[in-house]
Amino acid sequence: MNEDRSEGGLAVVGHWIGGVRVRPAGELAAVFNPARGVKIRTVGFATEADVDRAVRVAAAASEGWSQIPAQRRSRVMFRLKELLEQDKKHLASLISEEHGKTFADAEGEVARGIEVVEFACGAPQLLKGELSDNAATGVDTYSLRQPLGVVAGITPFNFPTMVPLWMFPIAVVCGNSFVLKPSERDPSPGLRLAELAQAAGLPDGVLNVVQGDKAAVDALLAHPLVSAISFVGSTAVARRIQSQASASGKRVQALGGAKNHAVILPDAPLDSVVEALVGAAYGAAGERCMAISVAVAVGEQTAERLIERLKARLSHLKVGAAEVPGVEMGPLVSDAHRRRVREYIEAGAREGAQLVVDGRQIPQHSSSEGFFLGPTLFDRVQPHMRIYREEIFGPVLCVVRVPDYAAAVRLVNTHEYANGAAVFTRSGELARRFVQDAEAGMVGVNIAIPVPVAFHSFGGWRNSMFGDHAAYGMEGVRFYTRLKTVTERWPDETPTHADFSMPSTK
Ligand code: NAD
Repeated sequence: MNEDRSEGGLAVVGHWIGGVRVRPAGELAAVFNPARGVKIRTVGFATEADVDRAVRVAAAASEGWSQIPAQRRSRVMFRLKELLEQDKKHLASLISEEHGKTFADAEGEVARGIEVVEFACGAPQLLKGELSDNAATGVDTYSLRQPLGVVAGITPFNFPTMVPLWMFPIAVVCGNSFVLKPSERDPSPGLRLAELAQAAGLPDGVLNVVQGDKAAVDALLAHPLVSAISFVGSTAVARRIQSQASASGKRVQALGGAKNHAVILPDAPLDSVVEALVGAAYGAAGERCMAISVAVAVGEQTAERLIERLKARLSHLKVGAAEVPGVEMGPLVSDAHRRRVREYIEAGAREGAQLVVDGRQIPQHSSSEGFFLGPTLFDRVQPHMRIYREEIFGPVLCVVRVPDYAAAVRLVNTHEYANGAAVFTRSGELARRFVQDAEAGMVGVNIAIPVPVAFHSFGGWRNSMFGDHAAYGMEGVRFYTRLKTVTERWPDETPTHADFSMPSTK
């Protein structure tokens, strides 16, 4: 596996530069198994010199790689897909071990990442330009999409495989080289992806991995050879990355945090809605940017029935470590994050929301050493409360009661975050109206987590995304390439006269 020297008995996760593992020379940080609450390895942070080396290696590799025909580049993606399929269980166990999510959830994450690799296999088609022959007399016009050079990707802890796979397969198949900076909390899956890409035939240097935190990110942002930055993480960091990277002339897409609303209309089939909500709010312990964290119940009767059913369902939601059979929700990623979520629960109760289910008092894991917290449900949450306004990123669902559809849409459209929004109803007319009205980047109709498939694109609005291009799909291709438009004439030898007026179509 991808571990280097041992440090205090723990293996060290290092970098991947130029197709080889690089022993980290910088600071070391602990990587935990959140289900056991123990350190399982350490990760070595990249120094500025490590980042510089990775970027220079990537720049050198991009010269040859960008000249290889797209069809040959796409063959590497076909092989990568096969290797990822073969390695799926191993990758999923690495994810569960360092992140804490259940094994089935981790396998689902790998599967969604593989779908982006499948999309990248279509590079020759995706990169095909447009041609207008005889656009003017004897003049042809055509467009090319050319790579940017070196692209860096900075990824969050909550999808240590899927989010890197949103980025580098499309970037490299478009002819770029890539430097990945995974989250320092679960660094191993990113390194494993680099090993698999090499085994698939990706030339050394085209994909590099540097471990680290803010210092490594700052070195990437400052590096003159990095042309573009793909970032996925919290809004505060996304906003900073966007302004810093664009100030130095880099192209940037920075996806941030979320507070996704599900609107439950009075005609919605509540039994299935409750199952959908519980999966979307508490799956991965709420540590998903598309988690439903607000349920907007339209009408008092809808709210009463919803709360009653949610409460009953949460009483038997199974919390535990990934390897425990039947477990539905794992721990939070760290003890510090668990403390932060607990503070939100305290704040919600203090501000007057009704604490229906208190995740701090779930008995089945109170004896465990892991970073567990049970599912929490608040009712009668008001828009001014912190638990409504801020992203908690934990297993906490807030129910807001509103009198009608218009009030529900107003809530969705005035929240600072606008990643996803969902509506549950049997009315095609209202669902269609919601699709048109909801100001969010991704909308679900009777689907709680509307994460687009790989051949569409992922991205939010307002403070959930900064930059113009969403992730993966055609938006990914556009982000990782520059458009060039060629206007071409092959004149015969007849002499022409200088024309001092603006050329127009003749
Ligand atoms: P984070 O912002 O703390 O970290 C993300 C990445 O940025 C990591 O690689 C980290 O090392 C780096 N980083 C952290 N602080 C930094 C700083 N000050 N300067 C530069 N780099 C820094 O996010 P996280 O806790 O790893 O992930 C959870 C967050 O990510 C949540 O807010 C979640 O909503 C968001 N997220 C968004 C999406 C999306 O597509 N919109 C997807 C997944 C996660």
